[in-house]
Amino acid sequence: MLNIVLFGPPGAGKGTQSEKLIEKYKLTHLSTGDLFRKHLGEGTELGILAKKYMDQGHLVPDEVVIQMVEDKISSTPDSKGFIFDGFPRTTAQAEALDTMLQKNEMSISGMIALDVPEDILRERIKERGKTSGRADDQDDEKITTRIKVYLSETLPVAKYYENQGKFTKIHGVGQIEEIFQNISEVIDAY
Ligand code: ADP
Repeated sequence: MLNIVLFGPPGAGKGTQSEKLIEKYKLTHLSTGDLFRKHLGEGTELGILAKKYMDQGHLVPDEVVIQMVEDKISSTPDSKGFIFDGFPRTTAQAEALDTMLQKNEMSISGMIALDVPEDILRERIKERGKTSGRADDQDDEKITTRIKVYLSETLPVAKYYENQGKFTKIHGVGQIEEIFQNISEVIDAY
């Protein structure tokens, strides 16, 4: 079973690469951002709660995210593996993920981090905002908050996997296809 954490700041290309990876490796895409947006679209209680945080560029509280991920994993028992996209975003989420995977006799194969400089992230997010309809993509202040939150709360998650010998960094600027090849090489070596 392959269980991959695709990691990187907002706008790094996690969603784009995830789509290609699930196709190639027949994995289940688990994007917490997409799951929240789905709840939001359906007007569920969870969606309404998450919106308050997402619209400001803040993180949704750990216990809410963890429960949602646990539900998704247990409702997909026949999966060949998962691409975790945008999760875990805090060390507490990473610890909770390890615990829930252990319970199901699963483990993380590795974390692949997409490395993209901040000026390019900002450009990409603003460009995406023209079509994504996402309030958090359209406002400089919110983008700044998301990058700050990434640096302070999410970046330590890379250390968590580095300490387990499961961390690889990939250059995230260039042709989508070339980045995809580089990620695939890492996965093929797991
Ligand atoms: P991006 O790739 O631009 O960061 P996402 O779709 O991954 O966008 O996430 C959008 C928003 O959803 C985040 O800014 C945050 O508010 C919320 N969110 C998504 N995943 C998590 C998570 N694992 N923990 C807390 N909040 C999350």
